[in-house]
Amino acid sequence: MRIILLGPPGAGKGTEAELLVKHYHIPHISTGNIFRALYKDNTTVGKIAKEYIDRGQLVPDDITNEIVRNRLNHADAKKGFLFDGYPRNVDQAAWFDELLIQKEWKLDAVINIYVPDEVLIERISGRRVCESCGAVYHVTNKKPNVEGICDVDGGKLIQRADDMEETVQRRLRVYNEQTEPVIGYYQNKGAIVMIDGTQSIKEVDTAIKKVLGEMN
Ligand code: ADP
Ligand code: ADP
Repeated sequence: MRIILLGPPGAGKGTEAELLVKHYHIPHISTGNIFRALYKDNTTVGKIAKEYIDRGQLVPDDITNEIVRNRLNHADAKKGFLFDGYPRNVDQAAWFDELLIQKEWKLDAVINIYVPDEVLIERISGRRVCESCGAVYHVTNKKPNVEGICDVDGGKLIQRADDMEETVQRRLRVYNEQTEPVIGYYQNKGAIVMIDGTQSIKEVDTAIKKVLGEMN
C-alpha cells in the first residue's frame, strides 16, 4: 500500500500515520521527523534544515526531494509507505510523480485531513513531543500516563520550538500559499479523499481505514 497523508500543520497527520502504519505494516515516512533526526545527529543537512524549520519556512526542494529519494531506496519501502508531510508544494508533487514513474510504482491513495485554523492552533499549542523518541502527545487531547513523561521510553516531553505562537502563524501562511495547492494538484489527477479531521483520533482512524478498505 502506498499512501500520502496531506493536511495543515497540527491536523493529526503524524498521530494517524502511527495508527495506520501499525495496521498496514508499512514504513511511516515523515520528512519533518527525518529533518529532526538529521539535526539531532549533528549532520550538515540537519543544521541547514533547522534554520528553515525554526523560521516556519519550507526546507528547499532539492534537499527535501533528495532525502525522499534516499529513504525510498531502503529495502522496507518495497512493501509500500505512508508519507506524512510530503509533498508540501506543487513542485515536490510533480518531482515525486516522476520518481514514482521511474520506480514503476503507483499510489493507492492520497488522503487530505482538513481542520479549521482555530482547531489547528489549539492542537499545535497543546502539542508535546518526547525529547528522545519524538512520540506525540497533547496536554488535554492525548495525555501521557504521567504528566511530562513519555509512555514509550520515559523521555521528557517538550514543546517543539516551531510550535511557539509566532512561528505557527507563519507556518499556517506557508501552508495556505504553498501546500494547499497540492490538494488541487491531486484533484486534477482525479485521486484524493477528504477526511474531516475535527473528529476524535479514533474516528479519523476509522474513517481513513474505511476508505482504504473500499479502495483495495
Ligand atoms: P500533524 O502531524 O498533522 O502536525 P499531529 O499528529 O502532531 O499533527 O497532531 C497535532 C496535535 O493534535 C498533537 O498534540 C496530537 O496529540 C493532537 N491530535 C491529533 N489528532 C487529534 C484529534 N483527532 N483530536 C484531538 N487532538 C488531536
Ligand atoms: P507539521 O506537519 O506539524 O507542520 P512537520 O514535522 O511535518 O510538522 O514539519 C516541520 C517542518 O519541517 C516544516 O515546517 C518545514 O520547515 C519542514 N518540512 C517538513 N516536511 C517538509 C517538506 N516536504 N518540504 C519542505 N519542508 C518540510
